[in-house]
Amino acid sequence: MLTTPANEHEEIQKPNPPQLSGWNWLPDKPAENSPLFSWPANPRKIAAWFLGSYATLSIRTFVLALALVSWLFLTPGPEVAMVLAPGWVLGLFGRNLAMMLIIAGGLHLYFYTLRKQGTERKFDKREMAKGVATFKFKDQALDNMYFSLVYGVTFWTMLEVGILWLFANEYVSVLSWNENPVWFLAVLFLIPIWHSFHFYWIHRLLHWKPLYKTVHSLHHRNVNIGPWSGMSMHPAESLIYLTSVLIHLVVLSSPFHVVYHLQFLIFNAVIAHSGFESLLVKDREVVHVGRFHHQLHHRYFECNYGNGEMPWDAWFGSFHDGTAESHERFTERRRKMA
Ligand SMILES: [Zn+2]
Ligand SMILES: [Zn+2]
Repeated sequence: MLTTPANEHEEIQKPNPPQLSGWNWLPDKPAENSPLFSWPANPRKIAAWFLGSYATLSIRTFVLALALVSWLFLTPGPEVAMVLAPGWVLGLFGRNLAMMLIIAGGLHLYFYTLRKQGTERKFDKREMAKGVATFKFKDQALDNMYFSLVYGVTFWTMLEVGILWLFANEYVSVLSWNENPVWFLAVLFLIPIWHSFHFYWIHRLLHWKPLYKTVHSLHHRNVNIGPWSGMSMHPAESLIYLTSVLIHLVVLSSPFHVVYHLQFLIFNAVIAHSGFESLLVKDREVVHVGRFHHQLHHRYFECNYGNGEMPWDAWFGSFHDGTAESHERFTERRRKMA
């Protein structure tokens, strides 16, 4: 006699796990850390992560392409960069300003001004705040633009100019592709991992009460975030955040790595703060943009200080994966800390 196994029946009856409330859009699976640091290592997961990051249209491949084009056509060579002169310094500032306006501005225009995909895949249902006194000019988007353009672009350019000048004058050794292509590629791959390490620790520091009050709270005015929020930071935070690039003064690398590293820091922040999980064109997903992992940090503060590339939050107990279960653990932890 054929009977339905009891567990199969139960499977059908099983209710969906409780969902986190108060969100317009939740990813279909919990936020994950990269498998690079899981032990025992899972080669299949690592290969899938690698392909997802480097063999598809992703923030990483987009920024790599952008860096390559700007390095080939819009970055001075060593013979120019060896003498500090207003021409090329202002040229770089103009190039960086234009890139920021096109990318952050373009995303803002698409998602928030023209509302091209309405609230589809938008994590938070709220719009950018207007008429709120907390923000400069009482306008969240204008406030965020001000800090991104005035400080973000300026410090990005200053660091780029300084390091290119050091390379051009051979104060720092230059790695060339022909000499060591394996290390050249390895540095490109290691930049996001180094950034993840640097970001977690400076971010923990910025959440130390005195620094939070005076510096980091400016970035956290944005509970609901948009592309301009990514680099909307107090000048001190902007500078500290970008110091990740100083690693090139001690690790053998090239001017191209510096150009890529800075653009990665800037545009990873801009794109990951989009507020939308992915960009759709005619209802079809084109590319993942926002990071729910960091969106959770903006809503709940005491979780997800890192970015998941290196699982520091999981190691130190502050990881929130966006599920109701994880949220319960998080509120319990917060209650105990109070
Ligand atoms: Zn924070
Ligand atoms: Zn943020």
